[in-house]
Amino acid sequence: MPQNIEDIKDHARLFQDPDYQALFQTKRSFEDAPSPEEVARVAEWTRSWEYREKNFQREALTINPAKACQPLGAILAAVGFEGTLPFVHGSQGCVAYFRTHLTRHFKEPFSAVSSSMTEDAAVFGGLKNMIEGLENAYTLYQPKMIAVCTTCMAEVIGDDLGAFITTAKNEGSLPQDFLVPYAHTPSFVGSHITGYDNMLKGILTTLTQPVGRTGSNGTVNVIPGFDTYMGNLREIKRIFDLFGIPLTLLADNSEYLDSPNEGTFHMYPGGTPLEAAAQCLNADASISLQRYTTPKTLEFLAEGTGQPTVTARPFGIRGTDHFLMQLSELTGKPIPRELEIERGRAVDAFTDSQAWIHGKRVALYGDPDLVMGLLSLLLELGAEPVHVVVTNSNEEFEAEARALLASSPYGQGATVWGGRDLWHLRSLMFTEPVDLLIGNSYGKYLWRDTGTPLVRIGYPIFDRHHLHRYPTYGYQGALNLLNWIINTILDEADRRSFIPGKTDISFDLIR
Ligand code: SF4
Repeated sequence: MPQNIEDIKDHARLFQDPDYQALFQTKRSFEDAPSPEEVARVAEWTRSWEYREKNFQREALTINPAKACQPLGAILAAVGFEGTLPFVHGSQGCVAYFRTHLTRHFKEPFSAVSSSMTEDAAVFGGLKNMIEGLENAYTLYQPKMIAVCTTCMAEVIGDDLGAFITTAKNEGSLPQDFLVPYAHTPSFVGSHITGYDNMLKGILTTLTQPVGRTGSNGTVNVIPGFDTYMGNLREIKRIFDLFGIPLTLLADNSEYLDSPNEGTFHMYPGGTPLEAAAQCLNADASISLQRYTTPKTLEFLAEGTGQPTVTARPFGIRGTDHFLMQLSELTGKPIPRELEIERGRAVDAFTDSQAWIHGKRVALYGDPDLVMGLLSLLLELGAEPVHVVVTNSNEEFEAEARALLASSPYGQGATVWGGRDLWHLRSLMFTEPVDLLIGNSYGKYLWRDTGTPLVRIGYPIFDRHHLHRYPTYGYQGALNLLNWIINTILDEADRRSFIPGKTDISFDLIR
């Protein structure tokens, strides 16, 4: 159906044209689709307690899980290192999915290659693909390091990465001393946070091998984990600068995923220098900002050095206080006055907004560490978490979340739903409604269905721009989170009171 060159319509208008409407009707008839009345009846039924009980009996099907698969996390870790090319041993389609997922969130190009396994490799093994793929990647893209992980296909047939990489080097694909860390990342277990941990540990194992532990070098390692807020990494660097503490970020993907546009394409912007990362066993301490994303890496650092390894999530006032006090204790340095002033501003802002959020019922979902940070923030604001959904949950997280909720009068009505998905959350929100929903972009379907205002926090965020450039950590991050949450509540207050002569008695100019 041709468009009028004088009046090009976008798809939202175009598909309302009679021609398209007729086409859609014909398609429904051809597919023998149920009547609109039947669709409405079933939709209404899905809001009921009866449907909720059936929904929670579901075992063999997951609908909209709040997680991604292991290699996606692995390649996010890999691009945090200088000159590093992620190489995924497996099928092309998986890697296309990872690249587009990350590019849609960050609005940045994401370079990752695959060994392009197809049917023959699935039957005979992917060694040939690995040998050719590593040679091509090394020659074409000239990286300083190639970090290899796997997709389901390579894992199902049992390809051995260590042996394959050694064979590829022996065949002359790469120089013998070229750095090729690797991690097996089977997606039928764990999630993107497991893949992040596996890859990070793999990279640090390779980089530290020639260096080992030679003694303290006065630095502190910080492991951000699967963190998609690039402002956070900049905020951590700023805090360390204010303290005067030498920092090694393991790993720093802030430049790669939020790089300046200066007219020239750089394939490997930023990243933790390989030499600095190789020294990580000689740091005075390691701080992980995400406990459930980094267990193997923390264990590797602790075992290799005996250095203190701690977890601190700098979320909200309490979480940031804890982080700064840990840093002060580990290094013997006092908390800078500038940060004390920032704390005062954040406390002032919390006090200004508290009346609007106090007592608000909240549903939230996301990765375990993000959810722990948000729970802590919500409780200090006096909000009441109700439904807490974490698809990639584990028992340790659930125990920690329940203990945190039990410690506050505002957490008493919350239920932690480990291993559940967003279709479960839909049932929860219909049967026990809330005032606010917090989560990634996939929550917009819950917003549409239930009418609950959505605050977009987490990964991925595809349908709003630039949020990943801001920090959510530290007192500055607390202000940003408060801003996003409170202004969503105020938008909703306006939306509920804007009908002239009916609800606009509450359409206030001042909130
Ligand atoms: S779950 Fe497995 S098959 Fe699916 S995208 Fe991830 S690695 Fe590929």
